[in-house]
Amino acid sequence: MVLPRWVWDYIRIVMENGSYAEVRGWLRDAVAPRHSIRPSVSEATSPCPTKRDAYLRRVAKASISSSDSLTFGRLVHEVFLAPLRLSFTSLSELDSLFNKVIGDYGELGARYKGALYEVFMKSVGLALQAREEGVPISVEPLIPGALIGFSDFIRPDLIVGFIPVEVVSSPPSGDDSSMGRKDLAVAAYALAVEAWVGHPIDIGIVLHITVNGGAKFVWRVIKVDDALRRTVLDLRDTVARIIEHGDDPGVAGNCPRSCPFYGVCHG
Ligand code: SF4
Repeated sequence: MVLPRWVWDYIRIVMENGSYAEVRGWLRDAVAPRHSIRPSVSEATSPCPTKRDAYLRRVAKASISSSDSLTFGRLVHEVFLAPLRLSFTSLSELDSLFNKVIGDYGELGARYKGALYEVFMKSVGLALQAREEGVPISVEPLIPGALIGFSDFIRPDLIVGFIPVEVVSSPPSGDDSSMGRKDLAVAAYALAVEAWVGHPIDIGIVLHITVNGGAKFVWRVIKVDDALRRTVLDLRDTVARIIEHGDDPGVAGNCPRSCPFYGVCHG
């Protein structure tokens, strides 16, 4: 079923209280962008408080340095998504699949091999349950984003049924802004699916995967309410305005050290 049983139960309880979202993806006036530039979801929901990262990347054409934390995040994503992405036919295929995924990341993959294997096997379990129960899963599906003023295509990590799922390699109790960012990304995906298929999406999921001291999964059910919807659409317009006018919004006062532009903004 991909999502644990208690998550489905929790979703049912949340939905029993009704849905009051008025900003729906299929309502042209509600989602109409104010600028012609259409940012990506990651640009609109980036951790940069002033969105200077969009200015640096799209206007100043600054090059970024890949950090260990970004690479590690990609590795955790790949390890989790690999069993869901492939329709493996025998369990013996799994070990070679795992070794291939972590092998692409060299020393980083080898260093965390034990914990990553736990992540992988948890994902295998979820994939087998989903297969058994016939739950439709799309891994990194391409969803049209232009209908809601985002880039041509946007790509959530997973769509389970109609529920967008985002995977993040940090704990929920860590960086609050990081938590909020993924909630906003889920709202953007919900709006895009609504615009695409005309079906209301009131729930999204953020899955936090951590590997320190063993693999740990924390599932958060996000109610995609109007506040989240309006905020992500406002961020879309903020980023679009910066790119369209070429205005440097300035260095933020509280930059995360993990920002790939940290060296550019802080010398
Ligand atoms: S260093 Fe700060 S201001 Fe510069 S892009 Fe990163 S978060 Fe934004």
